[in-house]
Amino acid sequence: MSVTLRCLKCDGQDLVKPVRLHRKSILTCRTCNAIALYGDLLEASGRRLMADLQEQLASMRAG
Ligand SMILES: [Zn+2]
Repeated sequence: MSVTLRCLKCDGQDLVKPVRLHRKSILTCRTCNAIALYGDLLEASGRRLMADLQEQLASMRAG
């Protein structure tokens, strides 16, 4: 499963990444020029994934 990283500010997916990524790597958003730590973006995408799954589960139960 691939994780999509998104800018925390504008939700853009066009991020400038350094070649070697670690949790403290700084990524820059090409759209709004916001910077974020790779670790923070990973965490955010994990939370988004969980929220999506819970939503799907909820709709399955409702259906
Ligand atoms: Zn952005």
